[in-house]
Amino acid sequence: MQKMRLKSNGEYPAPHAAPHACPCGQGFFDQCCDPLLTGKASAATAAALMRSRYSAFASGNIDYLIHTHDMPPTPAQLRKSMKGVVWTRLVIDRIEHGGYGENHGVVAFRAFFSHRGVASVLPETSQFKRGSTGWIYVS
Ligand SMILES: [Zn+2]
Repeated sequence: MQKMRLKSNGEYPAPHAAPHACPCGQGFFDQCCDPLLTGKASAATAAALMRSRYSAFASGNIDYLIHTHDMPPTPAQLRKSMKGVVWTRLVIDRIEHGGYGENHGVVAFRAFFSHRGVASVLPETSQFKRGSTGWIYVS
């Protein structure tokens, strides 16, 4: 049983707001990627940014995807790439650097999804760097 915690604004969460799993698979959404996606916190590590970007894809948060991309695509390009895609699971396979006090990081992962009902997986090794606003996705 999860202990009820005060939200950052000092209020208790509404009783009906049952915690739900974060799309990235790490924990509860309101304690995992949601604070990053809503700008209340910034990613402490490259892996945390990677997870939050996956959750942004899963929840259709175009602004966050653009804000955390070194050379962002246009909103229209992003929307087109997300059309008909349902992100189902993230598995992080390898993390190199990207920790506290570091400026570059590499995260290898597999993003599982279905596109128009057909299950598939996207394996990727992504580069991240720490910019003036925090960790961002490079390529
Ligand atoms: Zn998460």
